[in-house]
Order: sequence, then structure tokens, then C-alpha cells
Amino acid sequence: MTAPGSTVDLRSDTVTKPTPAMRAAIAAAEVGDDVFGDDPTVDALQQRIAELTGQEAALFMASGTQSNLCSLLAHCGRGDEYIVGQQAHCYRYEGGGGAALGGIQPQPLAQRADGSLDLAEVEAAIKPDDNHFARSRLLCLENTWNGHALAPSYIESAAALAHRHGLALHLDGARLFNAAVALGVPLRDLARHADSVSVCFSKGLGAPVGSALCGSRELVARAHRVRKMVGGGMRQVGLLAAAALHALDHHVERLADDHRLARQLADGLEGLPGIRVTSAQTNIVFAEVAGGRGPALLAHLASRGVLATGLIGLRFVTHLGVDDAGIARAIAAAREFALSNSSE
Ligand SMILES: *Cc1c(COP(=O)(O)O)cnc(C)c1O
Repeated sequence: MTAPGSTVDLRSDTVTKPTPAMRAAIAAAEVGDDVFGDDPTVDALQQRIAELTGQEAALFMASGTQSNLCSLLAHCGRGDEYIVGQQAHCYRYEGGGGAALGGIQPQPLAQRADGSLDLAEVEAAIKPDDNHFARSRLLCLENTWNGHALAPSYIESAAALAHRHGLALHLDGARLFNAAVALGVPLRDLARHADSVSVCFSKGLGAPVGSALCGSRELVARAHRVRKMVGGGMRQVGLLAAAALHALDHHVERLADDHRLARQLADGLEGLPGIRVTSAQTNIVFAEVAGGRGPALLAHLASRGVLATGLIGLRFVTHLGVDDAGIARAIAAAREFALSNSSE
């Protein structure tokens, strides 16, 4: 229950803090030196997430960014290229790591409103085998993208297209569990057609740290070497893997609550004067405020103990630290702002 003086933090689902039960799981974890391959809890997590994604193997990663980077460098060599959405995380928000560290050229394409790429445009962007061109090696998709879930049939078609042209498919599934819960399909159905899949434990699943890269044994072995190069070999990291395992046991089904609360927030904002909800999918709501008053709304919300971000439109993300009372407070504060502005 959101207490009166507390903060309702809707900036991201990364702000979740480990629950007491998760902390107990961390405290009880058996650990070893994972660089020696000696950590049984890491091994258990890697096996579990590989099974859940329908892939052969998996590797624990420090972050989603590290996971995507290791995947890019495992799939592509210098001078190769990856085809990717213009607004995709692994193109736009990862510091240009693939280019800086791997000499890999992105070929960005405009995305549709749901984050998908038009597969005819992807096919047209694949470069012929000719020495004028970078070698097109990889297609990257993101699920969910800004909360939008891509369906299994789309991912299967994208994989088939990539494979027909000798490309691999990487799926940035930082929030793939949100997609699975929203679509009511097993995670495996969204993941098994890809050649590599990255999932985050530190977003809606509520673990403090960590992601996993899943794929064939061979791909994961290559990514393991890259992870070492970028300084990602960690020692008694079973402490973190235990949190992720706890999240897989206890925090997957409950993502439906986050989706319900995001819907509730969108319904509460929709129809307030001067505020327009532009997207409300899974656990992420975007809104625009008329007259460039987005920053003013953010400031007003903050004065009422409600935090959101304004980097790309106003964004509100629900997660396990947010409840009905918190959403009610966010809606009340937005209404207060909208009504006082409309009567000026
Ligand atoms: C958050 C996110 C990442 C990166 O994860 P970090 O752990 O923050 O590095 C990658 N892709 C998508 C789609 C994300 O939302």
C-alpha cells in the first residue's frame, strides 16, 4: 500500500528494489567463482533461462547493454552490419558500442507504430554480396518496444526471412516476459526462432542486477569470450543469479498486475484537458501535454510525490513497487494540474 509520504516512482521498472523474500534468497545462495565455472547458482539460472527461451545455452550478463553488445560482437565481425530499428535500444541507447568496439555498422530502418519492422523493407535493405557493401549479417528486433508486444508469428516470419538470406536474428527481449504475459503465450514461443535472445532480470522482474544472453552453445561460447574482453567476468555472482531465480519463480505472473495498472493510469489520464495518451501497452504509458507543458506537469507530479520521465514524451512505467493507491495518486495529481491549467 502506497503510504501518504512515500514516492510513486514511475520513471522505469528498473527502480524496483529487492523484496525481503528476494533478499533472503540472495543471502542463502550457494556461490563459487563463476570465472572458473564454479558457481552452482549461476549455472542453475543459465540452464533455467535457456530452457524458458527454448535455446541451448545461456550466459549471465551484468546488464542488457552488455548482453546486446556481446551478441552483436558474437554475430558480426568488423565491417559487417546489423539491420535494426531506428528507435531500437541496441542502436540508439547503448553508446554506439557495436561500432566503437566491434567495427560493426548499423543499418537502421524506420519502425512502425508497434515497433515492428516492415519485412519487405528489411529484405530490401539486405545488401548483395558485393565488395562495395558491408556484409549484412544480423537482424535485430526488440520485444517489447516502448511497451508494444510483437507476436510469435511476426518473429517467426522475421527469422525465416533472415535465415533465407544468411542473416541471424537477435531478439532484444529486455521486457520479453511482459510480452509473453500480455499475449498469454509461453516465453519460448517468442524466443525459440531467434538465434540469440537477451532478457533482463532487472526491469519488471525486479532483480537488482543482471540479464542473460541465450542462444546456441556455439553462439554463447563466442559471447563468453566477448564478455571476458569487456570485463564482464564476475566471481561469486550467484548472489545476483539467486535474485534472478527468485524473480523467475515469483515475479513473472504478477506482471499482469503492472499491465492492469498501466491501463488504469492511461484511462485516468485520457480525457483530462490538455493531456493526450499516445500509447499504453503492457507496463508503459506515454502521454503528451499541450502547449509544451510536459515539464510543468512533471514538476507538478513530483511535488505530489509522483515521478515520471520526459526524455521522449512523458513516460510512466508500472512495476512491482507501484500499487492501486499509487496510480490513484498519479491520476489525482495529473487531474489537479490539468484542471487548474484549463481554468487559467
Ligand atoms: C533497458 C533495456 C536495455 C538495456 O538494459 P540495461 O540493463 O539498462 O543495460 C536493452 N534493451 C531494451 C529494450 C531495454 O529496455
